[in-house]
Amino acid sequence: MAVGAFTFHGLPARVVFGSGTIETVADEARRLGIGNALVISTAGQAAQGERVAALLADRAGATFAGARMHTPKDVTEEAMALVLRRGIDGTVAIGGGSTTGLGKAIAYRTDLPQIVIPTTYAGSEMTDMVGETTAGEKKTVRDPKVRPETVIYDVDLTLSLPARLSVASGLNAMAHAVEALYARDGNPVLSLMAEEGIGALAGALPAIAKEPADRDARSDALYGAWLCGLVLGSVSVAIHHKLCHVLGGSFDLPHADTHAIILPHAIAYNAAAAPEAMARVARALRVADPAGGLFDLARSSGAPTALRDIGMPEEGLDRAADLAVANPYWNPRPIERDAIRALLQDAFDGRRP
Ligand code: NAD
Repeated sequence: MAVGAFTFHGLPARVVFGSGTIETVADEARRLGIGNALVISTAGQAAQGERVAALLADRAGATFAGARMHTPKDVTEEAMALVLRRGIDGTVAIGGGSTTGLGKAIAYRTDLPQIVIPTTYAGSEMTDMVGETTAGEKKTVRDPKVRPETVIYDVDLTLSLPARLSVASGLNAMAHAVEALYARDGNPVLSLMAEEGIGALAGALPAIAKEPADRDARSDALYGAWLCGLVLGSVSVAIHHKLCHVLGGSFDLPHADTHAIILPHAIAYNAAAAPEAMARVARALRVADPAGGLFDLARSSGAPTALRDIGMPEEGLDRAADLAVANPYWNPRPIERDAIRALLQDAFDGRRP
């Protein structure tokens, strides 16, 4: 290996990882000077939000259990009204990427400090990106203000994530690392973390599919997800993320499932153009063929493998291909419309790449 020129940024967030770490939330709030927190969750995780508020005790100012997928602006405005009315001085988000997204949308408007307690493997807690949706259109911005200051990873909170969503979410995390391995702005340290993240998840997901309460596998998966989120927060993404943004944004497909389905096909698309990245992915997965190997991992672990099964209309494939080639992200292999259309058809049909 001959190391070329690169730029490396330090890792800004404070991370507390382990079992039972949620108990540290009041202490972490104190470190950040948060004395009147807004606790954020989805409606489905309202009880976990209440638990966080109880742990924060007199540092909790209000709870908001209205976070929704794709950070709709009207929801953010509702939460912002509460922030202003109650004199909120920081947020604590407990949940998946949707909940984290709301905390980030508030930070984007206020620069308030954030604590995030992730309960999926989406990785948003480690990035400076926030996507916001108005009238069905999702726009993503990058701003250092939205990167959470403190992340508390508590393995115990992930035990309740259903097996199917766990595997899909884990593949979503792996996608971040795969694209970091061939990113133009990657570096050798990020590549180490990406490979380690993929390997940790590849080992853990089949075990979680069999036994969702397997605490060792859950620890490995959450560790892997942290690393994958971390690399996502440091690089620009390519065709895989572009396709998933198009499919999620314009066809309202579920986030983690879409990533799980597209990833093997995106890898196959780029394989010949990114041999070093592929060698690392293969090593991490312990397989010879990364695209086929990931497809097999998804299928045998119960993740969806066909866009047709998650609500994609077949007549939308042409439009999806058009959107994916318009304003393309940089990609190791040039973006060719016919090849992208064929990729989408394979992903729609659930064909093994
Ligand atoms: P999600 O946050 O929408 O969660 C899916 C559902 O699972 C929700 O109803 C949630 O309440 C529930 N859930 C979460 N954790 C649970 C647990 N441990 N037990 C039981 N139920 C649980 O899904 P997601 O895939 O984590 O996040 C998707 C969103 O995050 C998308 O909007 C995506 O764009 C965004 N995202 C953003 C970034 C970024 O860097 N900005 C990165 C990744 C994802």
